[in-house]
Amino acid sequence: MKIVIATKNDGKIKEIKDFFKEKGLLFSLRIITYKDFSDFPDIKEGSSSFLSNAKIKARHIARYCGCRALADDSGLVVDALGGRPGVTSSRYAGPDADDATNRKKLLAELKDVTSFEKRTARFICRMVLWDYDIGQLNLSTGICKGNIGFTEKGTEGFGYDSLFIPEGYNLTMAEISRSEKNIISHRGKALKKMSDFLKKQLY
Ligand code: IMP
Repeated sequence: MKIVIATKNDGKIKEIKDFFKEKGLLFSLRIITYKDFSDFPDIKEGSSSFLSNAKIKARHIARYCGCRALADDSGLVVDALGGRPGVTSSRYAGPDADDATNRKKLLAELKDVTSFEKRTARFICRMVLWDYDIGQLNLSTGICKGNIGFTEKGTEGFGYDSLFIPEGYNLTMAEISRSEKNIISHRGKALKKMSDFLKKQLY
């Protein structure tokens, strides 16, 4: 089965590929990415929900590539900020923002929240598998709860990982191993459900 990962985010691509590799699914799945195309489109995420954005990306890329597409729309929801950055996580500090400027803005917005206990947050991932012919095949969700630290720590991962301390840990998501992140993270949890679905289709 050929599946294209509907993103240009290399951090996400690595996590998804590593996950399928660890589950032994790469023998039966042929995973392709934007790197296999010369003009892979950018998709505007206009919706205010993770699920609609994931569906928009999956449908668009499945049609463009003529195969099945796996899309994830994910982001960080911070309670003290009324849920921000939420669906705008990737462009929190502006349309051309990068991960570093987004993290800087998050720390600045939380500067008056001085109690660690009040800096609660969660990563949310909504994942959709779409067939260009049939339409939506499956959707899954993963949530990872934690707190936002006061300084950046760790060099692994991407996005807000170096600021996010998962529940039950003293380390940020950027300080734990990639295989551990794939077990506890929002994306890892959504991928687990998605891979259970794929296994049923494949075997
Ligand atoms: P999307 O491409 O619209 O789904 O954007 C997701 C954004 O949410 C990323 O650019 C990151 O800023 C943030 N994000 C999502 N998942 C993670 C993660 O696993 N670690 C850190 N940041 C994440």
